[in-house]
Amino acid sequence: MTPYPLPAFQDNYIWIIEDKDSSDIWAVDPGSAKAVLDYCQTHQKTLVGILITHHHHDHTGGVKKLKERWKCDVYGPSHLTQLITHPVKENDTIQVFSRLFSVLETPGHTLDHLCYFSEQPKQGEPPMLFSGDTLFKGGCGRIMEGTPELMLAAMLKIAALPDDTIIYCTHEYTLANYRFALSLEPDNEALIKSNLSDQDKRAKNLPTLPSVLHLEKKTNPFLRSHETSLKTQAAQQLKETPAVNSVDIFSQVRRAKDSFS
Ligand SMILES: [Zn+2]
Repeated sequence: MTPYPLPAFQDNYIWIIEDKDSSDIWAVDPGSAKAVLDYCQTHQKTLVGILITHHHHDHTGGVKKLKERWKCDVYGPSHLTQLITHPVKENDTIQVFSRLFSVLETPGHTLDHLCYFSEQPKQGEPPMLFSGDTLFKGGCGRIMEGTPELMLAAMLKIAALPDDTIIYCTHEYTLANYRFALSLEPDNEALIKSNLSDQDKRAKNLPTLPSVLHLEKKTNPFLRSHETSLKTQAAQQLKETPAVNSVDIFSQVRRAKDSFS
């Protein structure tokens, strides 16, 4: 079961979950109905389920039309009453083919943000996470409704998952994220290597996703804000004194990214 990235809009991916023994598919955050309808038509597939991570239109814009067309199940934040058929909250589980996903509440980018995590169902298949706009490869979502405290807690919740978790994010922001990450840690070898490899992928118009948690721990500044040189550099970019506690440090790194060009 390898999710397939369906490009939509400028830089979104709608992840399509398929099973080799089935003509059914699931879609994660279908902001565009057309992309999914075209996919179903081309590949002779039936959409049976949708997972929504949060309310933003580029993640939900296609849901109404797809639900009308396929009468499929829609799982998501409970306040989206017009869109969902199954409201979910922390620790609820959803069966998607052979895998059981559990819901992680990760407020920060928005207050309703959810991630969907599946442990290893059988040997040889790593755990997987749909991280929406919480964790991006080399970055994290903007704090639009939450607080730095909430966003840090969400990132730490993801960091506590198994190191081999494959992470399916919703946006192709990797190279821009790496430019900022390298401004904080120019000598980080894992970062330099991943940046070169992903530049190559983008030059060929290939996605840089998914990522994997052990790589994020070595490269993502929002999982590394405890690193002394990184936090000092972020404070310098903001022309501020380096913060002391972990939430304030995280906030400095996030604000440094917001003003980075
Ligand atoms: Zn969003």
